Amino acid sequence: MKEYSLMINGQKTAPQGGFFDVLNPATETVVALCPQASIEQLDEAVSAAQGCYESWQYSSDAERKKLLHDIADRIEANAVELAQIIVEEQGKPLFLAQMEVGGAVAWTHATAELEMPVDILEDSDTKRVEVHRKSLGVVGSITPWNWPLMIAVWHIMPAIRSGNTVVSKPSGLTPLNTIRLVEIINEVAPPGLVNVVTGESGIGSGMTKHPGIRKIVFTGSTPTGQTIMRGAADNLKRLTLELGGNDAGIVLPDADPAVVAEGIFQTAFLNMGQTCAALKRLYVHDSIYEELCEKLADVAAKQVMGNGLDEGVTFGPIQNRDQLNLVSELVEDARANGARIICGGSRMDGAGYFYPPTLVADVTDGCRLVDEEQFGPVLPIIRYTDVEDAIKRANASDVGLGGSVWSSDIAKATQIAGRLECGTAWVNGHAELLPYAPFGGCKMSGFGVEFGQEGLMEYTSAQVININK
Ligand code: NAD
Repeated sequence: MKEYSLMINGQKTAPQGGFFDVLNPATETVVALCPQASIEQLDEAVSAAQGCYESWQYSSDAERKKLLHDIADRIEANAVELAQIIVEEQGKPLFLAQMEVGGAVAWTHATAELEMPVDILEDSDTKRVEVHRKSLGVVGSITPWNWPLMIAVWHIMPAIRSGNTVVSKPSGLTPLNTIRLVEIINEVAPPGLVNVVTGESGIGSGMTKHPGIRKIVFTGSTPTGQTIMRGAADNLKRLTLELGGNDAGIVLPDADPAVVAEGIFQTAFLNMGQTCAALKRLYVHDSIYEELCEKLADVAAKQVMGNGLDEGVTFGPIQNRDQLNLVSELVEDARANGARIICGGSRMDGAGYFYPPTLVADVTDGCRLVDEEQFGPVLPIIRYTDVEDAIKRANASDVGLGGSVWSSDIAKATQIAGRLECGTAWVNGHAELLPYAPFGGCKMSGFGVEFGQEGLMEYTSAQVININK
């Protein structure tokens, strides 16, 4: 069985804590063995990153840009292997894994091209005041299991582009692609610039409290984000917290079900629904409710479920057993409370964590499936009659990552989109992220943004140079 290594200071390093199994969610068999780092090895990784930071913080813009473009080229050169690893440990169909690797390449190139501007606030005969953006030091990146490679890239690339160094800790459920990514980065990067330490017992919380780490960028669940924020208080680490969501979509009465059904389905079930900013609650006007339910069921019926490496598969398993159990529990709770299961609704027999695309009608707010984040292949469809009431219900959530409005009246939909309490509101779309648009949540979906100029600045602090001429 293949054993992966840690990467510390440019060296593949054997773990002091042994290895643990990484399972294939389609077969429940072992893909490979993941190293369990010790806390001492976390310290070594932080020291390596601190050592590299001494010179990297003074690297030129041109040097950083070139490195990121070189890394993007190396990721592209290893695309086939990376996509295969993602399917095997994460479960998504191959075409989605290829999309994830392609996104990683594109995002790395786009981040390379961002600028680190110096603002001149005053330049008179007697005084010049400049604002520079300074790097922070060692950044700790902690990532989840749903889009593991993409999210690691979202953390690592802006950190090093702005002059920081990195210690990365991927989820223990999908660590292999990130280990491979960091190996690839180390083919062209200076030793210590990007390190990876894996392991579940105490490595994440050790990073959170580590005095040598200046910032944590975290993508994951809201409860873990809260724990990280508490741990980070000791040395006042900077934080970017990209947490859970329960995105609402509102379908206005003038929307044509035949036109919007495909887009709604694909953005609700993207990555088997395991996407932070997927559409997770659908509010549909009474006048088109039954027709839209039918059209969504037609799209669901076309999905081909199976092992992501098999030809023609469009729908993979849920990534892990706990998530499968949660999804099953939420659907059973809705069923017990009188919901109508249009399609799907129970897990598949046999090996693998397979749960078919499931549409649940005649549910409403107050039901767990509507109020909680399902993070899986189930969409609750809620009937409404008054648009104002639908907006109120969409906003009556303690999280606010994304939201959407679906309509043939763009002006009206745009106006309603602006009233949704969330970081991104889409019109006739959902879940689309762009390398140049800031992405983040409000309320308990976290704070700070990623992507574009604003995202890059999160890895810096402002330094004013006040010159008396
Ligand atoms: P999770 O919070 O369970 O785990 C995320 C990471 O945190 C893993 O690497 C885990 O090992 C680590 N971790 C666990 N406990 C820790 C601790 N005490 N201290 C430090 N690190 C710790 O999340 P998950 O189940 O992997 O991911 C699913 C969740 O992530 C969903 O809620 C989803 O909405 C959210 N998510 C959000 C975004 C976003 O951009 N907002 C993107 C993807 C996923």
